[in-house]
Amino acid sequence: MHNIFIIYTGGTIGMVKDEQTGSFVPFDFELIARNLPDLSRLNYKLTVHSFTPIIDSSNMNPTVWIEMANIVKQNYEHYDGFVILHGSDTMAFSASVLSFMLEGLQKPVILSGSQLPIGEIRTDARENLMTALEIASAQVNGTSLIQEVCILFDNKLFRGNRSFKYNSAKFEAFRSPNYPVLVEAGIHLKYNNEALLDNRYKQFILHTKLDDRVAVLKLFPGMNANTIRTILNSDVRSIVMETFGSGNTTTDEWFLDLLKEAIDKGKNILNISQCKVGSVELGRYETSQGLKSIGVLNGYDMTFEAAVTKLMYLQGEFEDQKDVAYWIEKDIRGELTVND
Ligand code: ASP
Repeated sequence: MHNIFIIYTGGTIGMVKDEQTGSFVPFDFELIARNLPDLSRLNYKLTVHSFTPIIDSSNMNPTVWIEMANIVKQNYEHYDGFVILHGSDTMAFSASVLSFMLEGLQKPVILSGSQLPIGEIRTDARENLMTALEIASAQVNGTSLIQEVCILFDNKLFRGNRSFKYNSAKFEAFRSPNYPVLVEAGIHLKYNNEALLDNRYKQFILHTKLDDRVAVLKLFPGMNANTIRTILNSDVRSIVMETFGSGNTTTDEWFLDLLKEAIDKGKNILNISQCKVGSVELGRYETSQGLKSIGVLNGYDMTFEAAVTKLMYLQGEFEDQKDVAYWIEKDIRGELTVND
């Protein structure tokens, strides 16, 4: 019999309609259990930890992430796998940050939820939860098949730090365009073995320091210089700069001067693309050559969610900006592919 630990944080899966306002509001795990009598028929021993309060995932934050990571660590030895029920809106941020906090994970940590509440007739909650539980318990000779933080949605298991929420209306809410799907659930569960992380020979280490001094500069043609200056001068250690195409920006001198000034003051500027598919290639075009020479960092094909949370994690780990700059360009949990 498999032992699975469920962490219930909230999200649509367990919401009910407030009669007065007509909005969906979070409800306790009892609602899920009541609507899923099959849970008790499963060949699993389930332990449920509910967060207080249960939250819509728009209210997720580093304190809750640290609590989640601690719960995994405290129960790590006694369970075969972990399923975290979570709202889909910020699920990719939580999955990304947990992947950094839980180094050398040798058991599955699967985040899932649903687009329709469990009480609705056409709900996707049942399938998502059942499939997440099945994958969380999958082992060969006592070794977990999945040894990383993932997202399970609409019959697909994705690497958490490669995923983003791309659709708020379809059951297919997530995609992972720069990394293959890890498991496809049809009649059989099809594992993409070559794409899975193998942490068997690593040590499991919990990291719980996160430094949220991160800002975002999303560029658009004609962006006002004062706005850019304000963002670059904000009280942060790193700035995620979302650029065009394969990492391009205007070549205007004032713009490069502003970036250089910020870098000289000790800020890290990380270049990731506004495109969801493909990678930053610094120097491919003249329009990114200048960035490379002033020390803008390469985010390669990282998702926005992975970039922001990886910076929080690295800043928590390292006081020296140079260490953060060094590690942000390295693949540490399967979150990026270096292409140069
Ligand atoms: N607003 C919800 C949340 O993220 C949406 C969902 O669960 O799908 O908590």
